[in-house]
Amino acid sequence: SDSHFPVPICPSDVDFASHYPQFSGNPMVRFADVGCGFGGLLVALSPLFPDTLIIGMELRDKVTEYVKDRIHGLRPTNPGHYNNISVVRTNSMKYIPNYFHKAQLSKMFFLFPDPHFKEKNHRRRVISPHLLDEYAYVMQLGGILYTVTDVDELGDWMKSCLQNHPLFEPVGEDEITTDPVVKLLTSATEEGQKVARNGGQTFMAIYRRVASKED
Ligand code: SAM
Repeated sequence: SDSHFPVPICPSDVDFASHYPQFSGNPMVRFADVGCGFGGLLVALSPLFPDTLIIGMELRDKVTEYVKDRIHGLRPTNPGHYNNISVVRTNSMKYIPNYFHKAQLSKMFFLFPDPHFKEKNHRRRVISPHLLDEYAYVMQLGGILYTVTDVDELGDWMKSCLQNHPLFEPVGEDEITTDPVVKLLTSATEEGQKVARNGGQTFMAIYRRVASKED
C-alpha cells in the first residue's frame, strides 16, 4: 500500500539531485513516463535527449527496483551516458502534483496502460477527465502527451478524454510522422515489443497542451 513508499509533500521536497548526480544545481525533470514498467522507453529516450532529465514513475516495488538496477548498470559501462534517466516508485494517479511544479513537463508518456475493462473500474484508468486536469497543470504550453495501447476500447477512451478536454489539442499528422519519439511508442517498451511479437494492433493518441482549444 501507499504507506510503504515515501510521498513527497511537494515537488521541492523530492531529492532529484540524487537521481541525476551528473547534473548539478537544481535539476528539473522535463519528461515523465507514467507507469514505466521495465524502463524500455527511458533507456531509448536517454541518448536522444542527453540534456533532458527524464523520470519513470512505477507503482510496483520490484519493477521499480529492476529499473533502478538497470540504469545503475548502464551508467558505468557506458561512461557519460544514461545519467539523465531515473525512476521513482509512486502511485501516479494520486501524486503527480507532489512531484512536478506547474508547467514543468514538456512530454508525458502513457504507454500500454492497464485497460480496466469493467465500467465500474474506468475510474482507475490513468487517462480520465479528472487526471487530465492534473496533467495539464504540470505540462508546459506546447508540451506533448503521448498515449498508446493495444486495446481498441481503451484507445477510444483515451482519445475521447483528450479530445473533450479544453486544454489538449490533437498533434497534426505531419508532426507525428517527423517526431522521432513516435516510433518508440510501439517499439521501445517491453509491452510494446510483446504486442509487436504477437502481431497486435496499436492505437495512438498524441495531444498538445494548449492554452485553450479553438473550436
Ligand atoms: N509502459 C510500460 C510498457 O509499455 O512496457 C508498462 C506497461 S504495463 C501494462 C502498466 C504499468 O503501469 C505496470 O508496470 C503497472 O505497475 C504500472 N502502473 C499501474 N498503475 C499505476 C499507478 N497508479 N502509478 C504508477 N504506475 C502504475
